[in-house]
This record gives sequence, C-alpha cells and structure tokens, in this order.
Amino acid sequence: MPGVDDQESAAQQELSQQLVQLQGENQALKRQLDDLITRARENEQISKRLQESELKALAAQNLAELAEVLVNELATGPDQIITVMLYDPEFELQRIIDAEPDNEFASFILPVAALERLKGLLPDSLEPRLTAIPQYHRDFFFPGSSIDIKSTLIMPMVRRGELIGSLNFAYADSQIYHAELATDILARTAAIVAVALENTLNQYRLRRAGLTDPLTALNNRRFFEQRLAEEFERAQRNQRPLCCLMIDVDHFKQVNDRHGHQAGDRVLQRVSTVMAGQMRNTDVLARYGGEEFVVLLPETAAATATDVAQRLRVGVADQVISLENGEEVSVTISIGLSLYDPARQQQDTPKVLLAYADQALYRAKDGGRNRVERAS
Ligand code: GH3
Ligand code: MG
Ligand code: MG
Repeated sequence: MPGVDDQESAAQQELSQQLVQLQGENQALKRQLDDLITRARENEQISKRLQESELKALAAQNLAELAEVLVNELATGPDQIITVMLYDPEFELQRIIDAEPDNEFASFILPVAALERLKGLLPDSLEPRLTAIPQYHRDFFFPGSSIDIKSTLIMPMVRRGELIGSLNFAYADSQIYHAELATDILARTAAIVAVALENTLNQYRLRRAGLTDPLTALNNRRFFEQRLAEEFERAQRNQRPLCCLMIDVDHFKQVNDRHGHQAGDRVLQRVSTVMAGQMRNTDVLARYGGEEFVVLLPETAAATATDVAQRLRVGVADQVISLENGEEVSVTISIGLSLYDPARQQQDTPKVLLAYADQALYRAKDGGRNRVERAS
C-alpha cells in the first residue's frame, strides 16, 4: 500500500507537471500575444504613416503633386513603387497628362481606355490581388519601373460598386505587409487615392471651364493670353520662331442681320470646328472674342504658317452651312499673320506680336477680305 506521503508526492508531481505545461502554454500564448501586439503596433504605424500621406494626397493641387505623394510619401522607400491606374474612356486624364510640359509623373498615373486587363487580374471581381502579377503585365502596371519586382499587390479602386481603377504596389522584396491587416489599411488608402485623383481632375476641369468659350468649346481669350506669354517666353529662350494668326469672319454682321443671331452662332461653331480640325497638337487656337479668333503656331516659320493660314481660309470658305430654316450660308475669313523671328534679334513682346497680326488682318480686310496678309 502506498503511504500517504507517497500519494501526496505523486499528486504534487502531477501538479508540478501541470504547472510546467501551463507555464509553457502561458509562455506560448504570451509570445503569440507579443507577436500580435508587435504586428498591431507595426500596422498602426503603417496606418498612421499612410494616414498622413493620404491627407497629403487629398491636398494635391495637380497630378504632379499627387504623383509626388505616391512616390515619396506612400511608398516606403526606393525599393517600392506605387502606381495608380484609372479608367479613362474619354481620354480626359490622358489629355491632361499629354498637355503637361513636365509630365515625369506619367509612369505613376496611368489612364487606361479599357479595364479588361485589370479585371482579368483581380481574383473575385473587386477583391485585391495579393499574389504577384505575371511578368507580362508588369510593364503595364509599373511602366519604366527601376526596381527588380519580386512581389506585387493590386488594390482595386471601386466607386459606387463599379471598378474605376487600381492602386498598385510593387516591391523589390518578396515580403510585403502583414497580409490580414494591411489589405484593410491599403483598401482605405486606395479609396482615398481614388478620391484624391478625382479631386485633382476636378481642379483641372474647373480651370479648364474658366478658360473655355462655351459657344465654340474653343479656348477663350484668357487662356490664349496665358499661353501667348508662355510660348513667347519659350520661343525667346530656345531661339525658335513663333507665328501668330489673327482671324476675323468677313461681313459677319450680315449673317446675323439676314438669318438671325442663332444662325450666326451656328456659323461660329462650324468655323471653329473646321479650324480646330486643321490644328496640330502643339498649336493653340482660341476664340479671341465675337467673330475673331487667334492661333499660335510654335516652332513655325513664316512660310509654313502662311500655308496653315491658307488652309484655314480655304477650309472655312468651302463650308456650306445648313441653317435650321433650311437655308444655306457660307462665310469667308480674313487672316493677319505675324512672326517672332529669333534670327532678327527683335525686342518684341507678346503684345507687339499680336498688334502686328492685327495690323496685317486690317490690310487683309482692306485688300478685299477672304485673304491672308503677312505683317511687314
Ligand atoms: P468685317 O468683314 O469688316 O469683319 O465685317 P463684320 O460684319 O464681320 O464686322 P463687324 O465688327 O461689323 O460685326 C461683327 C458682328 O459679329 C457683330 C456682332 O453682333 C457679331 N457677333 C459677335 N459675337 C457674336 C456671337 O457670339 N454670336 C453671334 N451670332 N454674333 C456675334
Ligand atoms: Mg471683328
Ligand atoms: Mg468680322
């Protein structure tokens, strides 16, 4: 028979074994907890850092500033690349990027005309893609990437239940944020970047609206004057020629008098469309006021500018414009051309360039209209 002492010691042994086991479990739990706390802290730090960057993204005034936030704020370092892709079916964003003289941000802000490729990469539609995207998609999502991409993360941007683009992360490391928490955080970041991008686009739209003529949808005089100053400065700096055309519709008052001012409006719209169709991307066409238009032709010498002017003149004269009452009307334009010629070392100003074109226009009018005159 085991003695009482023996019984006690057996019970004690069991107890101390249980204690060791419990201590072990406890330690394991503690390690897990520490791990979780560390992760939570890390994620909190990531979240906090992202939050600050997100606020900066929302404050961006233009695309360059927004790209700056992507590159220098949201990205954790030079081994990470973040791009934003936006559905841009009407090429609105694309046009803004193309028009920007210093658009280094073009490899970070990516307009796409179709979303098929993005949709194809997202697992269940509108869910983030955590696994690396195939090599052949990388140039599309990370064009001009300077890092050796090891892992990628594609966060869809969703607006009113519709996919509108994605926020794309590429890493030179195969280790990314802690998956569970970070995707939540990054989903928020993607949503905010989407709003920031929309906000930036709205600023371009507003600026544009203030610089556009509502009747003809051409640039207005204010826009033209800004561009004239810029182009003149550029021509002087680079010692390049710059031509200016001042255009006036001939006997336009008669159109209004005979057919009413609505018919006149229609004629102005058609004249605008025809002239706009003749312009190169770099040319600037604007409605200067009333039935007067101006054109700036950068990098263009007098002979070419004369050809352009003649094409505008003939293009407008060839139009037969049908009016609502069934009648038809045609108009002609007179054009005055002036040139900034760097070879001649002129001390001209934008105003003088414009004044010369105006003088030439008056000679075209005096000479019988429907003609092009060059400033002497
Ligand atoms: P010229 O060949 O010498 O240029 O003769 P003109 O009749 O074109 O010149 P004038 O300056 O006498 O008349 C210009 C007319 O253009 C007067 C004005 O009512 C009209 N006009 C200006 N802006 C608009 C507009 O937005 N819509 C319409 N319908 N007419 C306009
Ligand atoms: Mg006039
Ligand atoms: Mg006129």
